Amino acid sequence: MIKGKLALVTGSTSGIGLGIARALAADGANLVLNGFGDAGEIDKLRAALAAEFGVEVAYDGADMSKPAAIEQMVRDAEKRFGAVDILVNNAGIQHVAPVDKFPVERWDAVIAINLSAVFHAIRCALPKMRERNWGRIINIASAHGLVASAEKSAYVAAKHGVLGLTKAVALETARTGVTCNAICPGWVLTPLVQKQIDARAEQHKQSPQEAKVALLGEKQPSLEFVTTEQLGALASFLCSEGAAQVRGSAYSMDGGWTAQ
Ligand code: NAD
Repeated sequence: MIKGKLALVTGSTSGIGLGIARALAADGANLVLNGFGDAGEIDKLRAALAAEFGVEVAYDGADMSKPAAIEQMVRDAEKRFGAVDILVNNAGIQHVAPVDKFPVERWDAVIAINLSAVFHAIRCALPKMRERNWGRIINIASAHGLVASAEKSAYVAAKHGVLGLTKAVALETARTGVTCNAICPGWVLTPLVQKQIDARAEQHKQSPQEAKVALLGEKQPSLEFVTTEQLGALASFLCSEGAAQVRGSAYSMDGGWTAQ
């Protein structure tokens, strides 16, 4: 069903975004990758995905904290592929600090990349989806879109905001072929989480393995990480015809985190 359509996945040079991009390419979607990284490595990744799945793969290095760059990325994708049929808002950053010591510049960056960028990408891509009466908007929120953790005020605020935005957009598109939903992952072992494991190991004088087990034990009853492949499978389902009436939902995939 998504064969030949275009999926723009923000923050897809690593982690969850890359896992979702791979799953959508396996379903036959062409891709626009986005995110930071070494130019040579990204070009290799682009070529490898194109060869593995037989789809067209472009790359746009737009900085998701910059509204004008987001708009240009969407326009360029539309020029080359006709429309952004599938928009996966995945790029995100984390900063951990008590609220009264939270660096103002980090607050602004987390809100810009994790929340405002989602608004800008949707705002720019939606008109063409409406024109074609088909579209899928998938926002990667978090278990932290539903519950909080200490010292993550900006991230928790942004992810709760993403779920609100998801519902508003779902209502505005309810009578069209465009759907808007969110995915709320628990811990996934990506560079974003590895940084937190390393910080924890140092702080508590633990080995990386001990820090990993402690991190999971605190929040995730399954004691297993969610994988990027599992999240890719969920994104693939949300793009399918079977999901046409899934609208404004927040799908948890969190090893039981928010069941507690
Ligand atoms: P990651 O650090 O592996 O990947 C983040 C991606 O975003 C990278 O491609 C990076 O280059 C890109 N990025 C960061 N800042 C950017 C910017 N300003 N402009 C463009 N691209 C930018 O992280 P991840 O763990 O894969 O996280 C992806 C998403 O999933 C984030 O929104 C994160 O909040 C969310 N999430 C992650 C977890 C987890 O446990 N890893 C859990 C819940 C939600």
